Amino acid sequence: MAAPTYKTRAIILRKRKLREKDLIVELLCEDGTLRSAVAKGARKPGGSHAARLELFRTADLMLARGSLDIICESRLAPDEPRSESTLEQAAVASPLAELLSFVAQEDLPQPRLFELARASFAQIDGAKEAQLLELCAAAIWKVLAQAGYRPSLSECVFCSRPCLDDGDWLRFSAREGGCICHSCEAPSDALSISANLASWCAFLINARFDAIRDCVLDDDTALVVLSLARDWAQEHIGKRILSLDFLFTCDLFEANSPDSKENHDLV
Ligand SMILES: [Zn+2]
Repeated sequence: MAAPTYKTRAIILRKRKLREKDLIVELLCEDGTLRSAVAKGARKPGGSHAARLELFRTADLMLARGSLDIICESRLAPDEPRSESTLEQAAVASPLAELLSFVAQEDLPQPRLFELARASFAQIDGAKEAQLLELCAAAIWKVLAQAGYRPSLSECVFCSRPCLDDGDWLRFSAREGGCICHSCEAPSDALSISANLASWCAFLINARFDAIRDCVLDDDTALVVLSLARDWAQEHIGKRILSLDFLFTCDLFEANSPDSKENHDLV
């Protein structure tokens, strides 16, 4: 008897080799669940899946159920771009895909996570290089907030007092969940961050992408915002977003690595 089949729309988060010609594809499905499936023959040049299962793009799929589901049919979703991503676009889409694979779960539908992921990848696909790091920072923080890991950026995590009035500098603790006012004792992991940086983080989490695209955040600051996100994800999800490390050390963007700013105050 043929295996039962089902259709889903899904974003391709990751591809891994399986045997000589096949791939295992990690999918964020439209209900927000995470799923792995086999794409047979997808490593063959010109194979039917080869051009339709593009990383970070959305495809309409038919799958057959099995111990590992098998992709029987695939096509790019109608409104997906047909052009190839640039290296820079792929570099900022990778940490987003990695984070999504951490926060999505096999048995937990999160349809809003899929919508956010799709909108985020579309923004990256359509962006010019100068805005890629800013959009990456926005997407990463939005996903963290959507997944329930939203930092407190305007009120002290201990006493709830507004702390943006405290001056130009704040203390920020990933372990405690955000900013700490000047009256409360800062924990040992607290960093000094500028009020400006805290405001940018809050803006990137809360604003719509079209509003974000209208504001220009320089690449150095965007990388610092991303390094805060890396520490935040490590603390709250318990996983390191390795492709952020690549972003910080690659030469694709002109900005300096935030690691060079470690042990210094953050802009
Ligand atoms: Zn306080």
